[in-house]
This record gives sequence, C-alpha cells and structure tokens, in this order.
Amino acid sequence: MEGFIKFIGTGGARIVASKQVRSTGGLWFHYRNTDLYIDPGPGALVRLHASRDHLDPSRLNGIILTHKHLDHANDVNVMIEAMAEGGFRKRGMLFCPEDALSGDPVVLNYVRAYLDGIHVLKAGHTYDVKDISLAVPVRHIHPVEAYGLVFHANKKVGLISDTRYFEELSDYYRVDVLIVNVLRIKPITENDPIDHLSVEDFKKIVARVQPEVAIMTHLGMNLIKEKPYEIARDLEQELGIKIVAAYDDMKWVF
Ligand SMILES: [Zn+2]
Repeated sequence: MEGFIKFIGTGGARIVASKQVRSTGGLWFHYRNTDLYIDPGPGALVRLHASRDHLDPSRLNGIILTHKHLDHANDVNVMIEAMAEGGFRKRGMLFCPEDALSGDPVVLNYVRAYLDGIHVLKAGHTYDVKDISLAVPVRHIHPVEAYGLVFHANKKVGLISDTRYFEELSDYYRVDVLIVNVLRIKPITENDPIDHLSVEDFKKIVARVQPEVAIMTHLGMNLIKEKPYEIARDLEQELGIKIVAAYDDMKWVF
C-alpha cells in the first residue's frame, strides 16, 4: 500500500460542525513515507485518536489549511502542537493562505514557533514535502482566501475544497482520484448565495474530469439527511464513473 486517504471527518459547514452529526476532523493523506493532515476542523485531534487506524500525529510532516473557516481550521493549533510532540520537538510544515496568518489569524503566534516552516499557499505554485509534490491550481470563490489541492503521488489526487461553482473549475482538477467538498443538495441561488458546491455541481465536474473515482465529502446537513450513499449510487449509475460518499473513518487506498 503506497498511499491512502483517511477521512477523519466527513461533515461540513456550521450546523454539522455545531451538532457533530458527522465528524468535522478533516483528512489524513499518506504516501510512501510522507503524511499530511488537511483541514483540521473541530474535533480533529480527538477523532484522530478515536480512529480505528491509530494514526499518530507526531508522524505528520505537515498540516494544510485550504482556508481559515472554523470547520476547516479550528483544531490547527492543537494539531501543530501534536505534530511537534507537544511542542517539545520543532517539527513539520504548515501550508495555509496568507489570511490565516494575518488580520484575524487562526494560527497562534506562539504555536508557529513549533513549526519547521510556514508556506503561504498561492495559486499556480507547487510545494514539495518529502515524497509528495503538492500543487495549488487556482484560487476558489469563497468569502475568505480558499484553495483546492492536487497531490502528485503514484496517482494524481485532487481535493476541490469549498468554492462557488465556476465554469473552468474542472479544468484545474484533471486527476485520477477526485475528492470534492459537496455541501448542498441544490445549487446556490440569488436568495441563498452561499459559496458552496451542490450535488448538481459535483455531477457536472465529475462528468468533465472523468476520474477513476470521485469521492464526496465535507457534507452539509441537508445532504446528510438525503442519504449520501444513495445519491452516490444514483450518480454512479448515471455517469458510469465510480462515485463514493465518504463516511467517518473511511480509508481510501490508492
Ligand atoms: Zn468555508
């Protein structure tokens, strides 16, 4: 097994984060000897320790924030401290947008000292962490600075984090394994202009990208009520592409 993605949390947005209907802990990405944590939302550290796989945060080489919203970044400080063995050993990198560090920052100053370094994410840039090369293809449309990620491992693995839908979006994520934050059932409207992707947007993106598998995660409350696994099954039949609705503690090996 060269690589896997462990879904520590598959819930998204404020209601799910508040009620913990699903965990909002984010993702663990492993490839060869490299381990990265993506979007440690509320409960990340606790859910990580409760996970079947007993993944040890002091093994992490880096933590990535796609953006600073609480359901993606709440546990970033405690996760940095855990990566650095309680802050006793300087260890690991942080990757995040500039606005996670300035203005109304989510990363505490004293915790930054535990890190080996901080990389500010910028569209069009590529970052190397041991065995993984990590590309940030495009800035997303979201109330705060937000990015998706493309990991270059034995396969290309893409994560489309929170964004409003835009036409060129799928062109930036031509990957083999496509993970998408699908928050909503219905697309946004003028009266309900929250910058999140819906099941319909997801379908359009998957049809264009044609990945070997598409995984929906970071699911919002209304979507969870509509049985995500049934939505995934119907989409799979319609598109002829493998579609998975992620569940808490799911491990996807690639
Ligand atoms: Zn967000």
